[in-house]
Amino acid sequence: MSYGVTVKFKYSKDKQPWMDVNDVVKIHDTFDLPESNFVYEVYKEAMARITTKVACSKCKTKNDADAKHCKNCGGALNPITSSSNRIDLPENRLWWSGNHASDSFESVAPFIHGRLEAFFVGEDGEVFGGAIIEDGKYIKCSVEMTLVPE
Ligand SMILES: [Zn+2]
Repeated sequence: MSYGVTVKFKYSKDKQPWMDVNDVVKIHDTFDLPESNFVYEVYKEAMARITTKVACSKCKTKNDADAKHCKNCGGALNPITSSSNRIDLPENRLWWSGNHASDSFESVAPFIHGRLEAFFVGEDGEVFGGAIIEDGKYIKCSVEMTLVPE
């Protein structure tokens, strides 16, 4: 049975969410993703990072971004730091919706670093659940409405 779900995100500025480029590629290629999702978008950036070559400072041979030694002369390369494997997920990049989108979002949550809150809105407009994702940990939550005086 189909059930359309839109995941609404609450973004954390002090623990900005991000993903590793290799995880983005793996998810894009092997996971069952909803019609509309941000992985398709960040995938282009991930592929560009992965295919970037580093030139050896001695012989100028181009090597893979994660190589530690030059494949031509064996000289040590400046390893690209792990921070360059990081793809930030700013607020305007977060969208996730489609058939059973809350289930597919749970499957990618272990690959999200930083902190993110997700609210699951069904096709009838009801918020039926949510989750806090913190450094890959998925904490299933029930949602309570609160009133805050204007
Ligand atoms: Zn070299």
